Amino acid sequence: MPIVVIDPGHGGTDPGAVANGLQEKDLSLEIGLLVREKLESQYIVDARMTRESDTAVGLSTRASYANSIGADYFVSLHHNAGGGTGFESYVYPGTRNTETGRLQDVLHREIADFFAGFGLFDRGKKESNFAVVRETAMPAILLEHLFLDRTTDANFLKDESFIISLADAITRGIAQALSLQS
Ligand SMILES: [Zn+2]
Repeated sequence: MPIVVIDPGHGGTDPGAVANGLQEKDLSLEIGLLVREKLESQYIVDARMTRESDTAVGLSTRASYANSIGADYFVSLHHNAGGGTGFESYVYPGTRNTETGRLQDVLHREIADFFAGFGLFDRGKKESNFAVVRETAMPAILLEHLFLDRTTDANFLKDESFIISLADAITRGIAQALSLQS
């Protein structure tokens, strides 16, 4: 059975981005738990979490956990800040032409299509030397779901039905990328 590791960004003493009454660590955990539940209830897959509560977990610990269980895919969930708007995804530099990039194409498109339905901008498929995509031995992706410090983005993320639909889009994207059986 394929193993997917869901990695909610930040946690515990590290809130990540904080703006408009939202904390990145809370949103990433809420969405991560939803994605795990949806994956396991709809597909034949073993979905694991790097954290299941509001705790601090080191970046290397997250990656080594995925490596130790022989995960097939690592999906890190984040929210952006710093004065932009929209959605972007990241893989390790130089892996766009590998299986990692092929999975990014599929998952990114599914999530970007969901956001486009709300007029939210696709910032594109990118590369960055983030620890969790560098230190994982399997294909890995880091998703940045909108900007907490942009009021329009934040207002969507405050809407529970939007969060559930976003989790559905992430779940569909992972299932398509890995050709999971239902
Ligand atoms: Zn983050």
